[in-house]
Amino acid sequence: MSRLLDIANPRTGRTDYRIAALDPPDLAALAARMRTAQPGWAARSPEERGTILKALAEAVSRHSDAITAALSADTGRAGISRTEVMSTVQSLNRWANAAPGLIERHMVSGFQTVHPTIRTDVRLVPYQLVGVISPWNFPLILALIDAIPALMAGCAVLIKPSEVTPRFVRPLMAAIAEVPDLADIIALVEGDGATGGALVPLVDYIAFTGSVPTGRKVAEAAASAFIPASLELGGKDPMLVLASADPEKAAATALRASVVNSGQACQSIERIYVAREIAEPFIAALVRNAEATELNYPDIDQGHIGPFIFARQAEIAQAHIDEAVARGARLLAGGKVETLGGGKYLRPTVLVDVSPEMAVIREESFGPILPVTVFDSVDEAVTLANDSIYGLSGAVFAGSLEEAEAVGKRLNVGAVSLNDGSLTAIVWEAEKSSFGMSGMGPSRMGDSGLLRFFRRQALIRQCGTPLPLAAYGERGAA
Ligand code: NAD
Repeated sequence: MSRLLDIANPRTGRTDYRIAALDPPDLAALAARMRTAQPGWAARSPEERGTILKALAEAVSRHSDAITAALSADTGRAGISRTEVMSTVQSLNRWANAAPGLIERHMVSGFQTVHPTIRTDVRLVPYQLVGVISPWNFPLILALIDAIPALMAGCAVLIKPSEVTPRFVRPLMAAIAEVPDLADIIALVEGDGATGGALVPLVDYIAFTGSVPTGRKVAEAAASAFIPASLELGGKDPMLVLASADPEKAAATALRASVVNSGQACQSIERIYVAREIAEPFIAALVRNAEATELNYPDIDQGHIGPFIFARQAEIAQAHIDEAVARGARLLAGGKVETLGGGKYLRPTVLVDVSPEMAVIREESFGPILPVTVFDSVDEAVTLANDSIYGLSGAVFAGSLEEAEAVGKRLNVGAVSLNDGSLTAIVWEAEKSSFGMSGMGPSRMGDSGLLRFFRRQALIRQCGTPLPLAAYGERGAA
């Protein structure tokens, strides 16, 4: 018997959807079917795989209304749901076009070794079955961000999206079903953490996006199954605003980079460090911008800030704010989760007089919260920004790009936005590692986003005469 899971709607708080978690034996049977189908997929040329993924892009476009509506119900937001579908179509086409050349460049043939008669080829051999486990904050993009390059590499891909936002799965599967070449090559299954746990030992590579605690469990399961894991985990991104920065511009950008998607993005700005020289105008502008931000309630098509997708996250954000205030922080805007129509909303929350031991500085809040710390020297700001278990990304605002870059290079993070914030949300070409506990494994962005799904196989050709044993004798070695 499948386990039934009731799913809450973020705008009403009511459970109005139900999924059936795939049983472990059914999951294992699906994985076995996908393993049977994968060699035929890998035998196609990259160009053929690209043509098939372009057909999937067209199918997703044809089903975009249904997928967008489901994503809106999953997440409580309209515009970002449309963007998710559009960006998935773009990603399918981008990888379909880019992968063939990239694969060809990395397939080395006839390479001369230091031994005059020995030449070698290096082949790229895809992992057979890649598992993807994804979170709820961008349900569609994050279910497919690793899956698409893995498919282009020739892998079959089994995806377990978050149980918090599962409504998009069925309309997406309907689009996939219109591309028969993908039958048993890509599958999405419904389920929760237990389903994710059952998936890891069934695959040859696991690409996980989610929180640090779950990432640790997945890494341990992957180690035990002896498979590689790519982990894309949480963050606590700092933004440094230097004395030379334009305070108005920096404040507008800090606010945007903090509150987009209601702060429910791994690359959200969650800590701000501002130079004392411009702290006053910067904080004033931040508060003004915060107060001008509107909730997308009651009209989902209006405003900027949607409900918390996962009600539990609203409690975490509120607990961080309350703890900071109890320890002496001052609230200049926002600060209280509001229940409207059953959904949980938080207006941009500006906090000053914060200190490094507060949860709002140390732990991922995943909400539109902007704690501001004033600094007296750049060295102090860099030390404070680097005082974190995380190292996903960060930002530096300065009067010039050169000055921003010099400070950005000192941050222990995998990507730094210079004179902007959260640019990794839109720039996917630049390779980046996750530093610290923000993740493990090769970059999901740039070329290694695809190349990580291959093992290398060397074909070493002896074009002359193999050496006799005598060549290895203690006295005869040449
Ligand atoms: P989560 O860790 O709670 O869940 C993520 C996924 O793991 C879900 O599909 C869940 O069902 C599954 N899961 C739970 N227990 C499991 C287990 N024992 N074995 C296998 N799978 C299991 O994360 P979340 O709350 O859904 O997502 C929010 C987190 O994701 C935040 O920390 C955020 O920063 C992070 N995130 C990171 C990135 C990135 O690129 N670094 C992007 C988006 C989100």
